[in-house]
Amino acid sequence: MEYHDVIIVGGGPAGSSAARQLVDGGYDCLVLDREQFPREKLCAGWITPEVLEDLAFAPEDYPHRFLTFEVLDIAFKGLHVPLRSPQHSIRRYEFDAWLLERSGAPVRRHNVRHVTETDDGYQIDEAYRCRYLVGAGGTRCPVYRELFRGGKPRTKGLQAVTLEREYACDWQDPSCHLWFLDKGLPGYAWYVPKADGYLNVGVGGMADKLKRRGDDIRRHWDLLCERLVGEGLVDEPPESPGGYSYFLRDRSDPGRLGDAFVVGDAAGLATRDMCEGIGPAVRSGLLAARSIMAGEPYELGGIDRFTSGNLLVRKGLERAFLG
Ligand SMILES: Cc1cc2nc3c(=O)[nH]c(=O)nc-3n(C[C@H](O)[C@H](O)[C@H](O)COP(=O)(O)OP(=O)(O)OC[C@H]3O[C@@H](n4cnc5c(N)ncnc54)[C@H](O)[C@@H]3O)c2cc1C
Repeated sequence: MEYHDVIIVGGGPAGSSAARQLVDGGYDCLVLDREQFPREKLCAGWITPEVLEDLAFAPEDYPHRFLTFEVLDIAFKGLHVPLRSPQHSIRRYEFDAWLLERSGAPVRRHNVRHVTETDDGYQIDEAYRCRYLVGAGGTRCPVYRELFRGGKPRTKGLQAVTLEREYACDWQDPSCHLWFLDKGLPGYAWYVPKADGYLNVGVGGMADKLKRRGDDIRRHWDLLCERLVGEGLVDEPPESPGGYSYFLRDRSDPGRLGDAFVVGDAAGLATRDMCEGIGPAVRSGLLAARSIMAGEPYELGGIDRFTSGNLLVRKGLERAFLG
């Protein structure tokens, strides 16, 4: 059985952020991921300037596709509002692999199935033991499932479902477009171009609300495809999408149990107005690492529950998605 001071389950932005901090602090830490990196991750790949700050890199340091939008084209029930707020896009396929490699942590391919608490830490399957355990395995994180879920089940009403497609496309419009609450969608649709001829398009909405309305995310995908062609944003509708779901931030946080932590989507931390998950994943990974290194409490209160700084937008979208 292999022993490490810290084992991190999942090498996405949450896991690699924790790993980088721990390696810098001289900790013996291992990342386990069931996928070989680079790996596909369904995600529009929009990142905020705060994510760059938290990860301490400038666009010119980043070796892969990186695009900045000076203005976002936001449509709200048919009304278009240009929003001057620089934001960025990356491809998760490249971004996550770069972050994980940059962390300097050893990475092992392993599909974690069972996690148990022992007298002096945790055991993973029949293969690994550790003192501290960080669950960064996304929505279906085995650390959350085995240690946290019993005491803190996720709230059904906070589950967002998505359909999206990322593909090589010679896009002509370099703006980011977001269509909110269109045709009854309790969420939004997006068109997010990436540098050097890639495009990500998709729809996301609250699962419970869609179900209660007898609606289906697939209908909103079909509407988006019609719109993209109708508005001349693409020549042909995109091929079949992939689907994934994740959870928005609850009123209380699952956080920490003994020396086990959950971070990122495993903890359900996406913002309640924009469903932004990368920023909260990075911040929670950094906080968990600091908590391990400095013995500080792991408190998620410092991670904002909202993306927008505008109170009206925060409350309006929260109500439309979750109310
Ligand atoms: C369609 C879609 C679009 C989105 N768009 C955006 C966006 O534009 N901007 C934004 O900020 N957020 C967006 N999000 C949310 C964002 O993708 C997530 O919040 C973010 O990826 C969370 O990061 P994470 O590190 O917690 O988890 P993940 O990135 O999901 O990483 C989890 C890792 O754990 C590994 N893993 C899982 N199970 C196991 C296991 N049993 N054993 C070992 N390893 C395991 C996985 O292979 C994976 O590498 C989007 C989400 C979706 C679904």
